[in-house]
Amino acid sequence: MLQSKLFPSTQKETPKDEVAANAVLLVRGGFVQKLMAGVYSFLPLGFRALKNIENIIREEMDAVGGQELLMPALHPKEIWAETGRFESMDDLYKFQDRQEKWLALGSTHEEVVTDIVRRHISSYKDLPLYFYQIQTKFRDELRAKSGLLRGREFLMKDLYSFHADEEDRKAYYEKVKAAYLKIFNRCGLKTLVAEASGGTFSKEYSHEFQAPTEAGEDLIVFCPAGDFNRNKEITDKKAGDDCPVCGKTLEDAKTIEVGNIFALGVKFSEAMGAGFLNEKGEKHPIIMGCYGIGLGRVLGAVAEIHRDEKGIIWPFEIAPFSAHLLAIGKNGEIFRRSGEIYRDLQKRGIKVLYDDREDVSAGRKFADADLIGSPYRLVVSEKTGDKIEVKKRSGGEAALLNSEKLPEIIARPTA
Ligand code: ATP
Ligand code: MG
Repeated sequence: MLQSKLFPSTQKETPKDEVAANAVLLVRGGFVQKLMAGVYSFLPLGFRALKNIENIIREEMDAVGGQELLMPALHPKEIWAETGRFESMDDLYKFQDRQEKWLALGSTHEEVVTDIVRRHISSYKDLPLYFYQIQTKFRDELRAKSGLLRGREFLMKDLYSFHADEEDRKAYYEKVKAAYLKIFNRCGLKTLVAEASGGTFSKEYSHEFQAPTEAGEDLIVFCPAGDFNRNKEITDKKAGDDCPVCGKTLEDAKTIEVGNIFALGVKFSEAMGAGFLNEKGEKHPIIMGCYGIGLGRVLGAVAEIHRDEKGIIWPFEIAPFSAHLLAIGKNGEIFRRSGEIYRDLQKRGIKVLYDDREDVSAGRKFADADLIGSPYRLVVSEKTGDKIEVKKRSGGEAALLNSEKLPEIIARPTA
């Protein structure tokens, strides 16, 4: 991509209507634009990062047997009334259409997916089933001040699993847990897996994937030995107490919940009459699990955690561009060489942003490269002679390389 064509230009000033660091940097870098509190457009750069996250999630969901589908955002009241959640869910957007029919905007899809399944399943032989979607959710959030972390409209990956017995559900749950750790790792997020209550979904339990950062709204009490992780909302333990498992001193950390998995039991299948006949011909409600990841929240968490005062430092796999090539100087030869390098890298499938702007100062180009945060910065200038200067956004010294070496070096993930 040529930077002269990239929309929009970066902005130097901190946006007046943003407080959260993730939103400040994402807006300044031209990744997103706010429409209103908790509602953002993804501009070309931000959309590239979002798509990268989406593809990682899709790969890992397919790897655990998930079948992708797409469910509607607009729901009739009746489907929510079946489980009582039309009344009990505080953050559900509800409204009437011109025929005065009540509708809701989907905040989650247990009801809709259970309705799909109950029309097709009759026997244990039809189970298990795993469905997921990557789809827009709506929630009437009261505190939508954290930029991308808490949207009122946001993209979620939600997976639902349907099982004939609890053992099978548990085994699949563990598989998804491992897949989630892989997803967050690939997105550059180290997460703690914390036990939490089932919330409104179930009396059983859930696990939250919590990324530590001061920007987090959650508080996790954990043992440094790794044998105890709980959300503060459910545990009466606090930092300084002894770990109930090994006796070590517990610590706490502010965190962002980037993912959450739930054992749903038969709560939805019982309420909605989603049953099957077991081997003995007896009717049973289907046992369910559900598993969510907020894509925008992952992106926002990455921006909170991987940054310095100059901008974002994208983890390699989700970076909009792996490399940012800067042509520095007034000399036509520099632009000619840079153009050659750009086309060569593109041919090799390397995602490169080329700052080909002729009327922009070197200072501005370097500042933009820091703000946009591509893992590798490549500079061609009079100083670099017939070589190219390569520097990682994550730190370390710059190196002068021959152009033949370049593709191999920058195809390697930065730490
Ligand atoms: P929170 O406690 O932060 O409000 P939640 O527990 O209500 O979140 P879930 O219903 O478990 O969220 O949703 C699954 C995932 O969707 C969450 O782990 C999070 O990554 C994401 N998510 C939930 N609410 C939002 C939101 N308002 N904006 C962006 N992402 C969200
Ligand atoms: Mg949750």
